[in-house]
Amino acid sequence: MQKKIVIVGAGVAGINAATKLVDNGYPGELITIIDKGNDPINRLPEEVMTGMLGAGGWSDGKLTYHTAIGGQLNKYCGDEKAMQLMDQVISNFRRFHPKPEEIFMSDPQEEPEFIKPYFGLRMFPVWHIGSNFLHEIAKAWYSYLLDKGVKFEWKTEVEDIDFNDNRIYTHNADMQYDTLIFAVGKSGIDFAQKLSDEYSFPTEPKSVQIGVRFEAPQKYFQKLIDVSYDFKLYQKFDKVSLRSFCTNNNAAYVAVEETYGDVSYNGHAKKGKEFENQMTNFGILMEIKGIEDPFKWSRDVVQKLQENGTGLYYSPGNTRKPGLTSEGSTVSATQIGWLELIKVTQVMEPYFDYVVNFIDDMNKVFEFGDDYGIYIPEVKYLSPEPLVKYDSLALANYPNVHFVGDALSARGITVAGAQGIYVSEYLLSNRS
Ligand SMILES: Cc1cc2nc3c(=O)[nH]c(=O)nc-3n(C[C@H](O)[C@H](O)[C@H](O)COP(=O)(O)OP(=O)(O)OC[C@H]3O[C@@H](n4cnc5c(N)ncnc54)[C@H](O)[C@@H]3O)c2cc1C
Repeated sequence: MQKKIVIVGAGVAGINAATKLVDNGYPGELITIIDKGNDPINRLPEEVMTGMLGAGGWSDGKLTYHTAIGGQLNKYCGDEKAMQLMDQVISNFRRFHPKPEEIFMSDPQEEPEFIKPYFGLRMFPVWHIGSNFLHEIAKAWYSYLLDKGVKFEWKTEVEDIDFNDNRIYTHNADMQYDTLIFAVGKSGIDFAQKLSDEYSFPTEPKSVQIGVRFEAPQKYFQKLIDVSYDFKLYQKFDKVSLRSFCTNNNAAYVAVEETYGDVSYNGHAKKGKEFENQMTNFGILMEIKGIEDPFKWSRDVVQKLQENGTGLYYSPGNTRKPGLTSEGSTVSATQIGWLELIKVTQVMEPYFDYVVNFIDDMNKVFEFGDDYGIYIPEVKYLSPEPLVKYDSLALANYPNVHFVGDALSARGITVAGAQGIYVSEYLLSNRS
């Protein structure tokens, strides 16, 4: 008998999981995908976090291709399998792309001399798609899954799950499942935490990842962009390591992320001449070890860095102002001067100095002077990772419940999608 599969979350992980199943003959009619966001026809560009293809499948679309980037994958399945799974994700994005020949790849081979001795450069290939193409991809992909019979429930938030009774609850309905793929991503982190507490899932603690989004005219960074489009500069200290993260160029926009009602920042890039603004933005993220209850610490810090219901923006001497979003409105942020920056330092005590020093070191290499701004904070909430079986990503006590994507241990598109496909391969090989 074929089983009824319910996927909570139509993000990168959930959609790749469903695609793998129907590509291999699993009846679409037995798959239901529930998402609290919108379908790709009605989803607005500014609905950054929720809806068809989730967060990173709607904005930007840098497909990284390395087992050390984007979260955990090879620890479950080994390096070779991990690369094979990532290949499948990239090939899905190509398959539904209206102009696959326009996907470009950056693949740095050597650390350039000019960044030494201040920084190291992490080297890995990355394909770049661009937000506007992602919206077309999402529509084509959706249409394929509908044709295969997959059922979707949009604008439907799953509010509770009874793992003992195999039942999920939404605002006004409930649904039975045989197999559950839990793929709620970052916007479902609270929900995942609630379930984890309720069912006392064994979990693995995570480090804190927090910092700022840096923005400056692209001309200063061009010599490095020519080597690596999505460059990742890094510095390592005893308990803290820093890296530049998710670099956007040419048509680069800062995006506001709302999690738990607080504002933090991210970025994305569009493709096409009409969107070009000659700006570069990237996160400068610290990974801090040794903080007790890192999740709570990050949430407290982010909360304290809110002013007037939004995050902060600092540019030395007010040289720059918050930029425009890709929809043409000003990025929501309260501009602060150096006095208030001292408060930021106090809130992130003793860590913010690492970010300041990172920027000072970049200034020695790229010579942008005061011509830059930082959006505060950028954060990656890493909730404790539920412990899962490595062959199926299923919870130990609930073998029919599979965790995938950012809800497990992914931090990027290719890894999230790959985890979804990995679970589907397991389900396909174990169907009875
Ligand atoms: C602006 C932005 C740009 C990014 N750019 C990149 C990039 O270029 N490259 C990269 O590798 N990574 C990028 N990322 C990170 C990437 O988005 C994530 O790693 C990836 O999307 C995770 O996939 P996922 O399927 O686990 O979760 P998501 O893609 O976040 O999808 C989760 C889905 O679950 C739904 N959901 C949540 N809770 C519920 C609930 N209770 N009930 C029903 N539905 C629910 C949400 O609506 C959402 O659609 C970016 C993130 C952001 C925010």
